[in-house]
Amino acid sequence: MLPAPISTTWMPSQALLGTVVPPIRRVPGPDGTGTPTGVPVHVGELPAMGAITDQELLARLPDTLIDHDNKEFYRGWLERKLVLNRCADCGFWHHAPRAWCPQCWSHNVVPTEVSGRGTVHLLIFLHQGPPAPGVDYSTPHPVATIELAEQEGLRIQSTIVNCARDDMRIGMPVKLTWVERYGAPYPVFEPAEA
Ligand SMILES: [Zn+2]
Repeated sequence: MLPAPISTTWMPSQALLGTVVPPIRRVPGPDGTGTPTGVPVHVGELPAMGAITDQELLARLPDTLIDHDNKEFYRGWLERKLVLNRCADCGFWHHAPRAWCPQCWSHNVVPTEVSGRGTVHLLIFLHQGPPAPGVDYSTPHPVATIELAEQEGLRIQSTIVNCARDDMRIGMPVKLTWVERYGAPYPVFEPAEA
């Protein structure tokens, strides 16, 4: 029996609605140089980056705080690809995007597309909050943390679509899909077969 989600009247921040990834300060590796360590592993094929220029990225997502660490994550949105950083030295995924691997401190991190498969790790329902396209607090609006299939603990915050509120459960298998928000693609999740 899966636990029922928690209802809340708590007022969300804009970050909770999933529109903002705050910038993270760069810090040096343990040896001060960021020299790669560990056994090299094969990482997924790089998505075709570069077709969308930095200028177009900023123009398409004008209200999003984009920096050099997270720009490939958001460039992926415009190509409807969920692109997270993976370490090319130890294979560890992380999110939100950082310039270094939190596992081995290598700076050799590669933006890599994920499968989009995962499960609902955390689920809350918002009854009020700032206006946002496609967000209806009267239903109320679900905010879900999705644990992605690629790695235990690799999680991204979004919402769930194409699912009745009473059918949403923690542990539910989901898959990536896309909606339009502020005139640009926005990653969301819908029920998937177990
Ligand atoms: Zn690493």
